[in-house]
Amino acid sequence: MEHTHRQKIRQLLMEGPHSLRDLSTTLRLSEKEILRALPHVEKSLRSLNQRIHHIPAECPSCGYEFTDRRRFTKPGKCPLCHHTAMKPPSFHIASARSGS
Ligand SMILES: [Zn+2]
Repeated sequence: MEHTHRQKIRQLLMEGPHSLRDLSTTLRLSEKEILRALPHVEKSLRSLNQRIHHIPAECPSCGYEFTDRRRFTKPGKCPLCHHTAMKPPSFHIASARSGS
């Protein structure tokens, strides 16, 4: 049931930041399914004046933050130090007015 998935994703993101993998593990859905549902979740938030805020992916080696990246998936490697085990981005739902 796609619709229920969206509601659950929305609920989790309202509780606090989750990465794609967190959502996938908690809801027992594939990351692909989550990625497919997220645009619909985002769309349903507009009328509530809320949106999905991104907490950027980060390089654990040099601290580089992927601030310009708006994707939900994890970057492959750091452009600065070429480290490959990036900390994944996470996201949460908040009012469209609050920063970030
Ligand atoms: Zn780095």
